[in-house]
Amino acid sequence: MLALSNVQAFYGNIQALKGISLEIKEKEIVSLIGSNGAGKTTILKAIAGLMKPRTGEITFQGKEITNKSASEIVKLGISLSPEGRQVFPRMTVLENLEMGAFTRNDKAELDESFERIYALFPRLYERKQQTAGTLSGGEQQMLAIGRALMSKPRLLLLDEPSLGLAPLLVETIFQLIKEINEQGTTILLIEQNARMALMIAHRCYVLETGKIVLADEAKTLLESDAVKKAYLGE
Ligand code: ATP
Repeated sequence: MLALSNVQAFYGNIQALKGISLEIKEKEIVSLIGSNGAGKTTILKAIAGLMKPRTGEITFQGKEITNKSASEIVKLGISLSPEGRQVFPRMTVLENLEMGAFTRNDKAELDESFERIYALFPRLYERKQQTAGTLSGGEQQMLAIGRALMSKPRLLLLDEPSLGLAPLLVETIFQLIKEINEQGTTILLIEQNARMALMIAHRCYVLETGKIVLADEAKTLLESDAVKKAYLGE
């Protein structure tokens, strides 16, 4: 469904991605793990059109998207739920969700998306008139995911959905991610919480300083001594 081939990206003189090649198949959950600064967020930005690779190619459903704009990429079916609290803080929950649907104008389809999101996150329904900046961290995270789902993506990019959440809420968020996947959305997930990521992903890539150093089935990586030592704290 999605493929990156030898993608290199820079911030000024700093090379953040040093030739990344990876692929995601339809209906998979693929996770990207790696230490701080390894380049995980940069990969998502490159896919979403928020940062242009210097070299390499990104294709989505057989079409090259490397140089397409972020809004064209959303229209093609890729949507990003960014790290942390990057919701629109002065807008209400409802308005934030509406912003996520900027590519769509079919009223019936939109109502269906609202229903789907409120069914996944009843908390957002209860708080739809509340200003997003006053939501708790977990609620803002749910809103960021809900907003990304409003464009009805085929591929959902999730940047650290569990960041800063209490353990119980982390479980809830992961359960929801699984549910979203079971409803047919392909997922690329970045996680600091490597154990949780490996538990729900089908496959995983391990990234170190801009390079992929390991790629395998998640269950194989969960049992790998190198992964246990470096990422699972064992
Ligand atoms: P984390 O887990 O800490 O979020 P990450 O794996 O997502 O890290 P990236 O955010 O992709 O890492 O960053 C990769 C490298 O690029 C880092 O060395 C970072 O300092 C650098 N970088 C990221 N954004 C910028 C920027 N806007 N300007 C300059 N350097 C940047």
